[in-house]
Amino acid sequence: MNFYDQHCHTHLSFDSEESIDNYLALGLEKLTFTEHLDLDNPVNGGHDDIPDFEQAVIWQQEMKEKNDVDLLLGVEVGYVPGQENRLNEILSSYDFDIKLLSCHHNRIYDYMDTKETNAKVESSEQMMDQYVDQLLEAVTHMTDVQIMTHFDYGFRVHDASLETIQERYTEKITEIFQQIIKHEIAFELNSKSIVKYKNLDLYKWAIPLYLSLGGKLFTLGSDAHLASDYMLAFNDLKKLLQQYGVDEVALYEKEQAKMVKLSELSFV
Ligand SMILES: [Zn+2]
Ligand SMILES: [Zn+2]
Repeated sequence: MNFYDQHCHTHLSFDSEESIDNYLALGLEKLTFTEHLDLDNPVNGGHDDIPDFEQAVIWQQEMKEKNDVDLLLGVEVGYVPGQENRLNEILSSYDFDIKLLSCHHNRIYDYMDTKETNAKVESSEQMMDQYVDQLLEAVTHMTDVQIMTHFDYGFRVHDASLETIQERYTEKITEIFQQIIKHEIAFELNSKSIVKYKNLDLYKWAIPLYLSLGGKLFTLGSDAHLASDYMLAFNDLKKLLQQYGVDEVALYEKEQAKMVKLSELSFV
């Protein structure tokens, strides 16, 4: 089975310097890069970060000819309320295979900023409140996408316990899941969140919640910013889903989901 990681970045993303050669060295038949589209990005002085998709289209042709690799065209859309028209205008110029939807910032600070990186950050409660509200707006208004990534992004840098998050956000996260189910947007298990930011307990709470609401579309994404993180911990993510009786994940191409059996996949 030609399974591929649906969340990867290269130097076309503002926060990655990874070369395509390092991904090609993995010897894959098919891959996708989901570069950051983040407008008014406070991490970059409020500039628009728009990936060079023309370059990605050139890579598609070159990789097919030189390496016999199918490169799918992906994007990770960072959403801030009020940006819909500008985002949709940029997105409409290309035929994407996979569009990821994220919330990274609110124009003033990134939700992973701390006092050390941005003096404008607020209290943990205010940041998490805003993040969750914004994610709900995102999945309500920016629905021409396939995957909601790292639902826990706005919790990553805070010390809040699972109990606190459950108490404060179960209602809103439930609404978020209801929206993605309604719009057939998949729920991503994000390796970076689970492995690097140790948010496994958040996923162990969220997976059964999503399932209880009727959710069926899961995806695996490493969020690699280095080729060495390609498919990071996918075997653990597979086992995690199987603990909840899930044995299918969605694989996207031309914005269409194909369901793939986890039991037929082997990850190292
Ligand atoms: Zn992201
Ligand atoms: Zn990403």
